[in-house]
Amino acid sequence: MMTRARPIDPDKLAEDLKAGKRAALARAITLVESRKADHRHQAHRLIQSVLPLTGKALRVGITGVPGVGKSTTIDMLGSNLTAAGHKVAVLAVDPSSTRTGGSILGDKTRMAQLAVDPNAFIRPSPSAGTLGGVAAKTRETMLLCEAAGFDVILVETVGIGQSETTVADMVDFFLVLMLPGAGDELQGIKKGVLEIADMIAVNKAEGEGAMRARSAASDYRAALHILAPRSPTWTPPVITISGLANEGLDHLWEQIGIYRERMQASGEWKEKRSRQQVAWMWDMLQQRMMMTLKSSSRTAERLQALEAEVRDGRTAVSLAVDELADLMGLKE
Ligand code: GDP
Repeated sequence: MMTRARPIDPDKLAEDLKAGKRAALARAITLVESRKADHRHQAHRLIQSVLPLTGKALRVGITGVPGVGKSTTIDMLGSNLTAAGHKVAVLAVDPSSTRTGGSILGDKTRMAQLAVDPNAFIRPSPSAGTLGGVAAKTRETMLLCEAAGFDVILVETVGIGQSETTVADMVDFFLVLMLPGAGDELQGIKKGVLEIADMIAVNKAEGEGAMRARSAASDYRAALHILAPRSPTWTPPVITISGLANEGLDHLWEQIGIYRERMQASGEWKEKRSRQQVAWMWDMLQQRMMMTLKSSSRTAERLQALEAEVRDGRTAVSLAVDELADLMGLKE
């Protein structure tokens, strides 16, 4: 039987959201994730109306290969933070989850303590196909969580393709978890991830793992050292932690606090946020234009035909682009 969805009252939803009601937050996120045009419209109005309440959280991205201990560490760190009075939201960016049906990041079962913590909110990755789509929804979800009073946002991602850079571009601080084991791992890591790390934490450093983790840490330190510094204010530290044994997580959080203080004092904090906002606008605009191009009746059909002609070498790329731009009303 078809069930009719309850009509959404955006003003009521905004009010409940501001009051920190979890059900309202969940509904608002569902609205943001919806692909229906009228839902999108309502979602955008909702975000606009709660905008003054956003931007106050500390936004931290966390990455690392599968098995490094992301969910274990987030579960423990998040629990430490809620115990200290914070409200913690855990979001995830995993564009692969829809295609592979594989590990959906942010899955509640992977974070047993936080999943039942009244001061924590866990949301798995939105299942929109492209990385751009997933990221856009996660950004909006982040704002909704902030409006609902969450003051720490942890965004988890796995090191697939561009997802790390994308997450680094939506957070204040980007944490990279590494495995101990040095040597071999060091050769395997992508240089790109070191370039965007604000801190490296070598996990599984408890007990007998401590020595190996320390040795890996000094290798990573050396690897970071040869990169050009990104900020005059901050040199990414390399620390050792155990997410499982809750060792080093206080130190980890302290470092993030120091980062915030220094970057705020130097003005880089605000500058980074502004830059991210503007980049987000361009991202969204680009996506919107691509969507229009692919779905509008004026261009969609011609687009396919021109693609075939370009594929066969019958039409020059530049000419095809000219024609499509004309169809979109983009006269030079
Ligand atoms: P994820 O795939 O990055 O989310 O990794 P998980 O958090 O699921 O952890 C993968 C495995 O490593 C699990 O068996 C964890 O129990 C284990 N693990 C995670 N953190 C630690 C740690 O600090 N020390 C040890 N010894 N094992 C850990």
